[in-house]
Amino acid sequence: MEQWQKDLKESIVDVETLEKVLGIPADEVRDIVEEYPMRITPHVLSRIKNEGDAIWKQVVPTAEEGNLDAACEAEDPLHEEKDSPVPGLVHRYPDRVLLVVTNQCPIYCRFCTRKRFVGSPGTLTPDNLEKVVSYLSEHREVRDIIFSGGDPLMVVDMLLERVLKALRGIPHLEIIRIGTRVPGTLPSRITEKLCNMLKAYHPLYMNLHFNHPDEITPEVAKACGMLADAGIPLGSQTVLMEGVNDDPEVMKRLMQKLLAIRVKPYYIYQADLVRGTHHFRTRVEKGLKIISALRGHTSGMGVPHYVIDAPQGGGKIAILPQDTLLYMDDEEVIVKNYEDLTFKYPQPAQSNGVGEESSIPLSMLPNPKSD
Ligand SMILES: *Cc1c(COP(=O)(O)O)cnc(C)c1O
Repeated sequence: MEQWQKDLKESIVDVETLEKVLGIPADEVRDIVEEYPMRITPHVLSRIKNEGDAIWKQVVPTAEEGNLDAACEAEDPLHEEKDSPVPGLVHRYPDRVLLVVTNQCPIYCRFCTRKRFVGSPGTLTPDNLEKVVSYLSEHREVRDIIFSGGDPLMVVDMLLERVLKALRGIPHLEIIRIGTRVPGTLPSRITEKLCNMLKAYHPLYMNLHFNHPDEITPEVAKACGMLADAGIPLGSQTVLMEGVNDDPEVMKRLMQKLLAIRVKPYYIYQADLVRGTHHFRTRVEKGLKIISALRGHTSGMGVPHYVIDAPQGGGKIAILPQDTLLYMDDEEVIVKNYEDLTFKYPQPAQSNGVGEESSIPLSMLPNPKSD
């Protein structure tokens, strides 16, 4: 058994151990854990400093998860099952697909979008892999595949390599991405052996999942450094959550710490409408405020896209604070910077005398000249 498998075995998975270690009465969350599995790795446990802190909230089950009345929340809010042509594959966008490699995760995030199946036994079978390869071979428009789950780094190297190898046989598949929370929660999984194996399948990208600056430890920094040294560009995804990271200062520290461990912030997600996760949701104004607090105030490298993954399979939609473009007409644009100072940018004359339609309807912009 490798060290990471031993570490995983030391995780908290049952309510009796949870009671012993964190003092939560077992009977309070027994039903919840039966429905939505729990796993807390030793590494994540070591990051909990206080009851109810940002790390605790992400992994410790609560009775609130049994609160299923919010009518707008669903088992499968993104309608992934409707967009699935082959078991495990989600094909929503024109040129890229998502593949569920396994249902297993190093930790079970209480806010998970795929709460409906994560933690139940299941890994991509050779049969289904064959179906995926055959579907993708016929769909020449697909040039990008994302390994997801569950967490694709939960499978052993040999199995992961089998999937990589099968997909690398498809000539039009240009890039492979791995979405994983492993480097931040089970850093011992990132071994030299794994990195050497992955290196053979470039161009390979990884998007890591981090929600709070306390998740970034020396062990995590080392794991990310090893992946980066293997030539894998690292991005991060963060879910905006009440009481976890809905604070501009916390988010700024997180983004800065990610850059320092060679991870480029990619997305901040508005929380999905998942059943049993209502208590994590924030208002969208919060997210916009966070983006305003980042833009200009810290490296542009550290400003991710803020997106809403639209319900019913509408896909990710980036949203931006609406207060930087104050006015636009044929001759000029008036813009506002992070210090609230305004600037005029004169437009070039339209070429060929052909009027290009202004992409922003003027009626939607406040006119600074009239006030
Ligand atoms: C997020 C996602 C992708 C990838 O989207 P990008 O914006 O390219 O990162 C692809 N397919 C599905 C189903 C997704 O949810």
